[in-house]
Amino acid sequence: MKRSSYEAPRNARLLWAAGLVSLGLVGCGEALDASASERPESVLTYEEFRAQAWREPDSDIYIVDGDTPVVGEEGLSELYQDYVRDAQGGSEPGTERAPLIVNRVNNADDRWDYRRQRNVTYCVSTAFGSNYNTVVQAMAQATAAWQQVNVRFQHRGDQDGACNATNNNVIFDVRPVSGQPYLARAFFPAQARATRNVLIDATSFGNNAPWTLTGILRHELGHTLGFRHEHTRPEARTCFEDNNWRALTAYDAASVMHYPQCNGSNRGDLNLTGADVNGAYSLYGPLADRDVDVAFYLLNHYDLTNAFGATGWDAARNHWLGAGIPEGRRGASHFDVRFYLATYGDLQAAFGPTNWAAARDHWLNAGISEGRRGSLEFDVGYYLAANPDLAAAFGTNYAAALDHWRTAGLYEGRRASADFDVQYYLATNPDVAAAWGATNYPAALEHWIFAGRAEGRRGAP
Ligand SMILES: [Zn+2]
Repeated sequence: MKRSSYEAPRNARLLWAAGLVSLGLVGCGEALDASASERPESVLTYEEFRAQAWREPDSDIYIVDGDTPVVGEEGLSELYQDYVRDAQGGSEPGTERAPLIVNRVNNADDRWDYRRQRNVTYCVSTAFGSNYNTVVQAMAQATAAWQQVNVRFQHRGDQDGACNATNNNVIFDVRPVSGQPYLARAFFPAQARATRNVLIDATSFGNNAPWTLTGILRHELGHTLGFRHEHTRPEARTCFEDNNWRALTAYDAASVMHYPQCNGSNRGDLNLTGADVNGAYSLYGPLADRDVDVAFYLLNHYDLTNAFGATGWDAARNHWLGAGIPEGRRGASHFDVRFYLATYGDLQAAFGPTNWAAARDHWLNAGISEGRRGSLEFDVGYYLAANPDLAAAFGTNYAAALDHWRTAGLYEGRRASADFDVQYYLATNPDVAAAWGATNYPAALEHWIFAGRAEGRRGAP
């Protein structure tokens, strides 16, 4: 995030001059009227381009676009070629005009895949000293904003003492810097571990009103999920970067990813707009419901993935309602309609042995509140008994306990069944831990359901 610059164009120019953000700002201090060119009026030479990137001290990393790292002269040179091509009209900006835009690498969306998106781990360096707790809390609040969709960040506090760019137990590190031209900078998912850092400059702890540290981090975390600066879109008419992006929604001048100083409309703290949430949804999908977890459903049934694509959330939901339920397909870790009907004789007597639709309706309308067991892996009675804090919070409110599982407990590695203990499973199956991460609980649980159990692996001690 670049420092704010509401005060005066002169000040803004000085601030922009530190990064590639200034590329589109030929005449940026002048009136930005509707007839302004969508493209820069002149194309920078490589030397000019290079002079505007900021080289981080003691590293080979250059900061471009205000808060984005690229590695070495090669990275800078590749980016310059894209810039020249796009500045000369050599490629069209993102083709869909349907506010959020996602970075593109090799003609594909730059995003976390399904097995990773629910376990984006990070550490917070203890080198923050007296600001450490402030950063931990601001990261918790900023990650929560993005977790309105099916994305989960995980703070690995056990790694904070060795929180650096070579720590491979986390996806990214959060570290303090000082003397940088930015408030904070981040990275995109496709980048290598060495540059997957969120660096927070000492100035971020000063008065940056109306921005808070949490707001600044909401913006930076958007980059870590693949989202580009909204102001590189033609509608901003300034701050052009390049055309390597795809539109997820319509242009949004108030987006958390839009620098206010680049013709943005937001004058408050940096918050996600409704359009930001919609854009993130389109890439990462919805949170789980009580009977179906649409992402689980789409991405574990490969016929559906092939038919609808890896982000066909709405089509997958429609398939569930129209075909998946009557077919008795499994739609969530916490609900397996075949297990449910097979477990309860009273339901078989009432509905018959294969009336999956009736059994699913029973689960939603009665079974959940009665505290019935939804799957081999989720037994609400066991969940409450094994987690005294939840029992104290929810008592016999089984629906609330289920809601805790699907929004939090699953991602915290809590145990919810006598037959499956995800922490045990990861500890005893190092191949699973190596493939997805030692604390990637949702990926490990799904490995057990769709592969490990059939392979004869043990689910619990
Ligand atoms: Zn940014």
